[in-house]
Amino acid sequence: MLFYSTRNKNDSISFAAAALAGLAPDGGLYVPAEIPQYKTSVTSSLGGMSYIEIAFETIRPWVKDDIPDPALEDMIRSAYPFSAQITEVADRLVLELFHGPTAAFKDFGARFMARAFSYLRRGEDRPLKILVATSGDTGGAVAHGFYGVEGISVTVLYPKGRVSLLQEKQIAGLKGNVSAIAVKGSFDDCQRLVKQAFGDEDLSKRHVLSSANSINISRLIPQAAYYSYAAGRTPGAVFSVPSGNFGNLTAALYAYKMGAPIARFIAATNINKTIPDYLENGNFLARPSMATLSNAMDVGAPSNFERMSAHFSWEQMRRLILGASVTDAETRETIAEIFSRSGYYLDPHSAVGWRAVDHLAGGLPAKTPRVIVSTAHPAKFAETVEPLTGPVPVPVSLQKAMERTVEAVTIPAELEALRDCL
Ligand SMILES: *Cc1c(COP(=O)(O)O)cnc(C)c1O
Repeated sequence: MLFYSTRNKNDSISFAAAALAGLAPDGGLYVPAEIPQYKTSVTSSLGGMSYIEIAFETIRPWVKDDIPDPALEDMIRSAYPFSAQITEVADRLVLELFHGPTAAFKDFGARFMARAFSYLRRGEDRPLKILVATSGDTGGAVAHGFYGVEGISVTVLYPKGRVSLLQEKQIAGLKGNVSAIAVKGSFDDCQRLVKQAFGDEDLSKRHVLSSANSINISRLIPQAAYYSYAAGRTPGAVFSVPSGNFGNLTAALYAYKMGAPIARFIAATNINKTIPDYLENGNFLARPSMATLSNAMDVGAPSNFERMSAHFSWEQMRRLILGASVTDAETRETIAEIFSRSGYYLDPHSAVGWRAVDHLAGGLPAKTPRVIVSTAHPAKFAETVEPLTGPVPVPVSLQKAMERTVEAVTIPAELEALRDCL
């Protein structure tokens, strides 16, 4: 299986090279030369296979040139001691992706990526140092994903005082091979420092540096597995996907192309509706992001659009994907309404996914099952959810995180200072 950059079709590389590079040198994203297909024996038995088995069949064809089956199986078993879960709420199904250690779907991608990196670098004697800048959520998922993984250390840069206490504990409470740097500045400062570090001669001499950002192809592939898992159990459904950078929806499209029995997708956004607008009028107009309650989806220039359009034309996308945008007022209304009707707690991102279905109800066949993809546990966003529902039960993973103590070095937003603590 070969991968090429969305900006240069002629230059193909292996899965190993694409994963370890992250972004292509020309600024493009890596996409597969062709999307692999499940064997019919797999598609016909998805409904009875375990999560681990489906993850194996989903990831294997993409990585088989670089990762032999027994190693892949070990990786998947160690990455997923939890699974996706499907719950009936009112007349819909909720695909809960928040049963991992940081209580958000990013665990599925980050945990596989970490194990893939460790395997692909086996035999190298110098440890790999991952640098990652975060505005909050990604840092925790990456830190937990790489925590305890051999041959790799992680340094997370976050803006001091601008992440929630829970997020800070997820980033700076693990210790071990994860270290945290609180930067006196903004997220943009953190991102600039990471970029500068990669360009710094002294640092590149001292360390083997890499990034683990969200556009890495090794984070997307494993996410296709939970769509196939849900589709096997509910064939022919519409999946509403709460979206920001559109990695999650791109993974959904990969599952569909591999042969998972899925009818349609909904690109559910908050008021940052670049893609719903594109689906409507064919113009992709990136714009500055606006702050909302579903802040992990506050993205005005979704990076994975470049991947989506490498595989699908506008007409093809419109046949497969419906767009809908949801306001903060509607998000709150939905959280309150579903709680009072069903006693179920939706987090603000998942509530966007729920409400998007209501917007489109007229355009969906009546008998089609509706699956709402739930991207985060509501307790992660208690400050928004609890005024509408009362106290949200906190899962064990988040209780454990809250017990941790923060250990971070605070630095000014200058490369000199970063260099000193690496
Ligand atoms: C990252 C994130 C999203 C957006 O996912 P994309 O793949 O960027 O579209 C949605 N919800 C939550 C809770 C997230 O953390």
